[in-house]
Amino acid sequence: MYFRRVIKRFWLVGLAVALAITLPASKTNAQDTFFVTKVIDGDTIQLENGEKVRYIGINTPETHHPTKGIEPYGKEAEEVNKKLVEGKRVRLEFDVQKRDKYGRLLAYVYLENIFVNAYLMENGYAQVMTIPPNVKYQDQFLKLEREAREKERGLWLYSAPAEGPPATYSQPSYSSSDTTVYITRTGAKYHSAGCRYLKKSCIPISLNEAKQRGYTPCSVCGPPQ
Ligand SMILES: [Zn+2]
Repeated sequence: MYFRRVIKRFWLVGLAVALAITLPASKTNAQDTFFVTKVIDGDTIQLENGEKVRYIGINTPETHHPTKGIEPYGKEAEEVNKKLVEGKRVRLEFDVQKRDKYGRLLAYVYLENIFVNAYLMENGYAQVMTIPPNVKYQDQFLKLEREAREKERGLWLYSAPAEGPPATYSQPSYSSSDTTVYITRTGAKYHSAGCRYLKKSCIPISLNEAKQRGYTPCSVCGPPQ
């Protein structure tokens, strides 16, 4: 009699453990979402638990950089990010690398059915910035960026100053060994600084990124290949 009761108890404990393991994985609930206390800029937010989250795969113009200051379209990107997620609960999806060297979480951010990273890209608030190994949605982001550029949405409509390579657009934090080249808003070529084709618009980009996005070297200025 006693043993039977013990066995029954064990069975119940086992069932409870099994449920505890399977339940959280089943459906999104409050535990999977995080309250966004503050939007820091277009691609960085702070959660109620104090964690900072940097959106993966995208880069919005700077709004708080100590030397670059506010870059064109930075404020707009920050504002739209604020309207989207500040004071709301978001769901996070991680890729291979969970944190960057600053200790920030690296995540794909979802607000109900909106994939926030993709939304910002699609509407011209961000450029693609791929940092391996977090490449899960790279193809989707590149496609959205191409579309935003073609339709001249958001920052793609912004005209850079006429002369020289300006300090107007954020240089994404690529590794220092990466070479910088320049693209224009509409062209398919990439250039060296000072090329005459850069007079209307001039957007710095890493050589790797330029190649990845299908830009080809300009035959006039002969940029690095
Ligand atoms: Zn050129």
